Amino acid sequence: MNKVYKFKVTLKSRAFWRIIEILDNQTLGDLDQLIRETFNYDRHDHLSAFYKGKIWSAQSYGDIEPGGGGEGSRVKINNLGVKTGDQLIYVYDFGTSVISTVELLEIKEIEPYVSYPRIESKNKKRNKYCDRCKLQGKMTIARQVAFYEEEFFQEYLCDNCVNDLPEDADIDEIMN
Ligand SMILES: [Zn+2]
Repeated sequence: MNKVYKFKVTLKSRAFWRIIEILDNQTLGDLDQLIRETFNYDRHDHLSAFYKGKIWSAQSYGDIEPGGGGEGSRVKINNLGVKTGDQLIYVYDFGTSVISTVELLEIKEIEPYVSYPRIESKNKKRNKYCDRCKLQGKMTIARQVAFYEEEFFQEYLCDNCVNDLPEDADIDEIMN
């Protein structure tokens, strides 16, 4: 009988988290795809990897390629060698290195009529306001976030202010 592994994936340095349930015979590739989807990461670009020890250490389960290939993508959940309370590190994009912790909360029975892997729950949605509008005393809901890699700076922007950005800015939809 298969078991369900229940992980809490928390984006480091922000209060975003997801509880993800996945079957023991599914793979890190399956987990990677769901994390990319739920955190709005690119599913067709950038490598990722899970680590059991320190990030960049030898204790990697192997690289995962965008779209699903790579040594790490084939590792089955029941071969991770983790027990309840253990914490893995997940790195998406080795360039900008977006880091999450992946804690095993429990190993439980399969629930009927549930399709795995799935997002079991997530952090509450919080509105962000446009940083540029704020400077003018207006509170406008921001829908995009712009990153300026070389300065490690990010800016929340409404649909209007996004149009004023330089072309080289890296823009993403806001994740919640
Ligand atoms: Zn604005």
